[in-house]
Amino acid sequence: READLVARRQALLGPAYRLFYERPLHIVRGEGVWLYDADGTAYLDAYNNVASLGHCHPRVVEAVARQAGQLATHTRYLHEGVLELAERLLATLPPELGHAMFTCTGSEANDLALRLAFAATGGTGVIVTENAYHGVTMGVAALSPSLGPGVPLGAHVRTVPAPDPDKGTDATFGAAVAAAAADLARHGIRPAALILDTVFSSDGVFTHPTDTLAPAAAAIRAAGGLFIADEVQPGFGRTGEAMWGFLRHGVVPDMVSMGKPMGNGYPVAALALRPELAERFGAGARYFNTFGGNAVAAAAALAVLDTLAAEGLQAHALKVGGQFRADLSALSARDPRLGAVRGAGLFLGVEVLEPESRAPDAGMAARIVNGLREARVLISATGPHGHVLKIRPPLVFSDANAAFFLERFESVLSASR
Ligand code: PMP
Repeated sequence: READLVARRQALLGPAYRLFYERPLHIVRGEGVWLYDADGTAYLDAYNNVASLGHCHPRVVEAVARQAGQLATHTRYLHEGVLELAERLLATLPPELGHAMFTCTGSEANDLALRLAFAATGGTGVIVTENAYHGVTMGVAALSPSLGPGVPLGAHVRTVPAPDPDKGTDATFGAAVAAAAADLARHGIRPAALILDTVFSSDGVFTHPTDTLAPAAAAIRAAGGLFIADEVQPGFGRTGEAMWGFLRHGVVPDMVSMGKPMGNGYPVAALALRPELAERFGAGARYFNTFGGNAVAAAAALAVLDTLAAEGLQAHALKVGGQFRADLSALSARDPRLGAVRGAGLFLGVEVLEPESRAPDAGMAARIVNGLREARVLISATGPHGHVLKIRPPLVFSDANAAFFLERFESVLSASR
């Protein structure tokens, strides 16, 4: 049946959409940390940061259903929901970030950030990390090197190595940003922005020392550009330590983009920004997003903010993620095919290495990912060499779920000797 669906999908949707796993899953239902296939088999979801509160959280389901039954339309009318959401969201951010603009996806939020940065600086130059992913629109795909050579980087884009603590690049990160900005200027391109994940994701899942972001932000500002924090992955408490990844670094970005878990599955995303940037962008009719911040999106996002707080999920992520990480590290110490365990809270990466050379082993990582899928545990692999296991479960992931994960992980590892 899955094979039929894959063939039908290929015929109807074309080849552009990638599915996970050698044997793609046909998921029909979700609840908490569990996903269920058409036969009712349960899979532990250790990958999903969209359903951050757990799949189909009743508070979000109820809020979406209630609002959808009352009003669901475009965003050209006054509606209080979006204002309440903006107030609540901005209260989680430093006071310098006084405006919120709403979109439907993280890509659109980053795309809007770029437009604002171009308008505010008069420049077009952008600096990103070497394997960054910032989204799918033309504007941000052109600065997402992780999409590979099929999507060429724009001539206005420069890359810097992500400050990987295991590679010792962190101390030079600010200098690398300054050099990239100088290179743009040398080519007659005025720098407009540095866009960074505040916990690196497509670069290989790692946190960087907390003294690396401030020098990087200072370097882009000295060159006339703005600092944009991409919080699509680490935002909404995933690191356990803070609501937003950048807060761990003591630096205030000029703009902060967010999305994925914001509506727990309902598409809603946003950009928080310094008000003066919006003013320079132009008042009036410059930006319209048909669905961005619509009444249903606002209801979903408000329910997410309520639930994050009511269930103490940020603190939970810190506690469960800390122990999980320690247990993964202990496993890594016993198995030469595993390397560094990194990340923060419930955003973890495990390196898979060739035991003798300690070189990245993407083949083994793929075998682990597919082996776990057969063992009914869902993760993925990422990074420039595809060798970092990406473990990023809903924040309600429990110690018992972690124990289940570790048991399955160990048996997959011993079966793949
Ligand atoms: N930024 C980062 C860091 C992301 O991981 C993603 C999505 N994977 C995006 C932006 C784009 O978000 P969306 O898919 O909602 O457009």
